[in-house]
Amino acid sequence: MAEVLVYVDHVDGAVRKPTLELLTLARRIGEPVAVALGNGAADTAAALAEHGAVKVLTHEASEYADYLVVPKVDALQAAVEAVSPAAVLVPSSAEGKEIAARLALRLGSGIITDAVDLEAGDEGPVATQSVFAASFTTKSRVSKGTPVITVKPNSAAVEAAPAAGAVEALSVTFSEKATGTKVTGRTPRESTGRPELTEAAIVVSGGRGVNGAENFAIIEALADSLGAAVGASRAAVDAGWYPHTNQVGQTGKSVSPQLYIASGISGAIQHRAGMQTSKTIVAINKDAEAPIFDLVDYGVVGDLFDVVPALTEEIKTR
Ligand code: FAD
Repeated sequence: MAEVLVYVDHVDGAVRKPTLELLTLARRIGEPVAVALGNGAADTAAALAEHGAVKVLTHEASEYADYLVVPKVDALQAAVEAVSPAAVLVPSSAEGKEIAARLALRLGSGIITDAVDLEAGDEGPVATQSVFAASFTTKSRVSKGTPVITVKPNSAAVEAAPAAGAVEALSVTFSEKATGTKVTGRTPRESTGRPELTEAAIVVSGGRGVNGAENFAIIEALADSLGAAVGASRAAVDAGWYPHTNQVGQTGKSVSPQLYIASGISGAIQHRAGMQTSKTIVAINKDAEAPIFDLVDYGVVGDLFDVVPALTEEIKTR
């Protein structure tokens, strides 16, 4: 069976959920071989083996933390040359997409970004994408070189599938460009204790209807009752009510959670572009004609200042 390289996104050995989702998808098209780089790379092996990695290629070097992206591209290229995989899967984070694009260029391969599903095909893996502000779903495959595919978080369930996960050292020679852009400092974002927006299983978002920064407290309370991340429409962000890092949509982040709750959001196409692939969509809006109701699974016509706190209280009792 062909091997499929999976780029491991981890923090000091703790594997992030999107990588475990990639392992689920990788198993559909071949045998997953994980590539873990940087500090704690070897510590990822147990989690990766538990989720189906037949092999874990590791390389620890300070360059991965000290310089932007290129050392990781060098390592992935070395892994491709060593394994000749059927595909390379990378999580669709900002960094992941840059790594994937640079890798595809190096390999002379085609690339598919922001896939939301993946299946085996007669002529190689077939990726599903949601395009044109989520108006269409397309299926495509790479016809030239080793397919490089980035996959959006929450595109697949994390499934346990114990495998050997044998750790092997990857031999990497850094290119001249590897040390081209040095990281001079890192400022950790203040933690809210909530999950990362793009990785969250549940997202609760507020829009212009929330009517003020202070009122976002009711959106946050609902989010916290569900263990959810908080999102915001651009109207709410532009008004200064919530940070841009939480904006969902065409010029914000793209999310695909199991459950998306939109409160006081009209459902403009640019907002839909960032959330339409959510598995279940719920909207709370006082205007029964709001376009958001065209795409919801469940809609509540009502004042969010009544509905959201009532929902939070009900959830807390369960
Ligand atoms: P509105 O459209 O004003 O809707 C507010 C809704 O709240 C209304 O439906 C109203 O009925 C409801 N409401 C009001 N009060 C209450 C209440 N008390 N209870 C219940 N409901 C209530 N937008 C994004 O979100 N993300 C993007 O990334 C983005 N990118 C853009 C890029 C471009 C190039 C452009 C041109 C626009 C972009 N926009 C984006 C803006 C987008 O077009 C909309 O203007 C924006 O999404 C509207 O936000 P909203 O739904 O919160 O506000």
